[in-house]
Amino acid sequence: MRRKLVVANWKMHGSLAANQSLIGQFQGLLGQPDCDVAICPPFVYLPQLKTLLANSAISIGAQNLSEYSSGAYTGEISAAMLADLGCRFVIVGHSERRAIYGESDVQVAEKFAQAQVHGLIPILCVGETLAEREAEQTTSVVLRQLDAVIAKNGVKSLLKAVIAYEPVWAIGTGKTATPEQAQDVHRVLREHIQVSCAETAAAVQILYGGSVKADNAPSLFAQPDIDGALVGGASLKAEDFAAICRAI
Ligand code: PEP
Repeated sequence: MRRKLVVANWKMHGSLAANQSLIGQFQGLLGQPDCDVAICPPFVYLPQLKTLLANSAISIGAQNLSEYSSGAYTGEISAAMLADLGCRFVIVGHSERRAIYGESDVQVAEKFAQAQVHGLIPILCVGETLAEREAEQTTSVVLRQLDAVIAKNGVKSLLKAVIAYEPVWAIGTGKTATPEQAQDVHRVLREHIQVSCAETAAAVQILYGGSVKADNAPSLFAQPDIDGALVGGASLKAEDFAAICRAI
């Protein structure tokens, strides 16, 4: 039985005061959810969250990392630094990084590798744009993104990773994939992994992301191949994020 996981992606939001208040409210509302919970704030707030969450089961993660281990890479943050700060997770290949910063499949595979070298669990984001969905390329796009990581790291690397299916057209738009649309892609991803390794396919957590809210979470979480959620906008409101975690 795969354990469920709900991950907050705060993106470039927050302040010391706002974070303290949000975490305080969230912890008060969370109770004992039947899932693991992680929060990925901007890099600079990782130490603050580590302190605020010191006595809780909630993990912290980063939203990105460098594909290089160290050196003259001004402005970059390495996997070793994230591990040093107590991160458990790191998001790789978020569609905003692919689209705005031009991250390639190969670069994402290298970031994934760096994360695992330092004991971090990469959360690999895959997903198609609206144009790709309309051109019936959803399967080929998500499998291309997944295969780039498998080609570099091997299929068993997914045993220590999480996949997040995030249709680009559903991120921050209020348009959620229907539970059936999401389940179809999750099933395709799992079946594809199964061809090379049944053990990995059965074990890997595949999260759904894209306008997850308290009201659509229960029907998404009821799907057999959806193991939780990666949540953007709704993770910035304590009541909403706690309700999504409790919906598991
Ligand atoms: C995300 O950024 O990963 C995301 C899923 O955002 P939202 O929940 O706001 O669509």
